[in-house]
Amino acid sequence: MHKIHELSTILADQIAAGEVVERPASVVKELVENSIDAQSTQIDINIEDAGLKKIEIIDDGIGINHDDVEIAFKRHATSKINNQRDLFKVQSLGFRGEALPSIASVSDVHLKTSTGDEGTQIHIKGGEIKKIKPAEARRGTSICVEDLFFNTPARLKYMKTIKTELAKISDIVDRLAIGHPDVAFSLVHNQREILRTSGRGQLQQVIGDIYGAKNLKRIIKIENSDNDFKISGFVSLPELTRASRNYVTITLNGRYVKNYALFKAITDGYGSKLMVGRYPIAVLNIELDPVLTDVNVHPTKQTVRISKEDQLCNLVAKTIYDTIYQENLIPEVMTRD
Ligand code: ADP
Ligand code: MG
Repeated sequence: MHKIHELSTILADQIAAGEVVERPASVVKELVENSIDAQSTQIDINIEDAGLKKIEIIDDGIGINHDDVEIAFKRHATSKINNQRDLFKVQSLGFRGEALPSIASVSDVHLKTSTGDEGTQIHIKGGEIKKIKPAEARRGTSICVEDLFFNTPARLKYMKTIKTELAKISDIVDRLAIGHPDVAFSLVHNQREILRTSGRGQLQQVIGDIYGAKNLKRIIKIENSDNDFKISGFVSLPELTRASRNYVTITLNGRYVKNYALFKAITDGYGSKLMVGRYPIAVLNIELDPVLTDVNVHPTKQTVRISKEDQLCNLVAKTIYDTIYQENLIPEVMTRD
């Protein structure tokens, strides 16, 4: 008699879902990242009741082959890495093969996908495949997630108000749009449009779409590089600040990350010009050899380890400092004339 046994796939997926799918915003993040990895140029996000009723994502990406659709919902199944070597130089946003099985284990999912040649539709609820069949569709993937957490009542109970959950969705879509100016995003909640970006590739325009076009006058471009890092982005002048840290977005090779050392490097760049409790609006995009990063730290992939982090932080702080002080000198000189 064994006391120890392997858990069923469905239960194992639900356990993994506990980490990957914390709330509706995590579903949106994972699905939009899949759409971005699929080289989509347009991603439409349609939400009802802050995602607790429905999350629908429609993309025009490469789609999934008919034979792969079922496998895509298995845990640790991915098209994005093949071997250990790839793990050290991940270029895609996904690579763990956890999102689809996790989401499907705690909701009711309808997915329709087409590579342009062949299409498939699948219905999977609580991790069980209800139906899978060929389907006509234009190239791309649409996925509809309903009844999130229907079988995990403890998680459902933990959800905050519609307003809070929607704010989290809106926040993550903003960051993904900032990281991908070449993708046209739309976010609609209960039929009301919350965000639309053009996908024309102008980061400045996306920042205007999100933080207000009138603020662009007080947001300046930064750019610099050294042997290991290339940094670029936009930062607000010291006179344009916010009372929250949430207006700072950092991306590493297109991945939105949370990194306190880099956040601090940005504020350090303002020297003594930021008042206590005030933070800038900033977008910092960092390009580096993926070998210098480890993204396999946490299931949500938002925590990333960076080699030579001190060197990078110094570069960021110095670049912002130099740019802001240069910018501020010009009006001073002009007023003296
Ligand atoms: P991961 O993104 O880590 O590979 P997922 O569970 O999120 O794992 O997705 C599994 C696989 O399904 C992906 O590797 C990809 O091949 C495929 N896939 C998921 N979503 C899409 C999409 N929107 N378009 C094309 N392929 C997709
Ligand atoms: Mg994924």
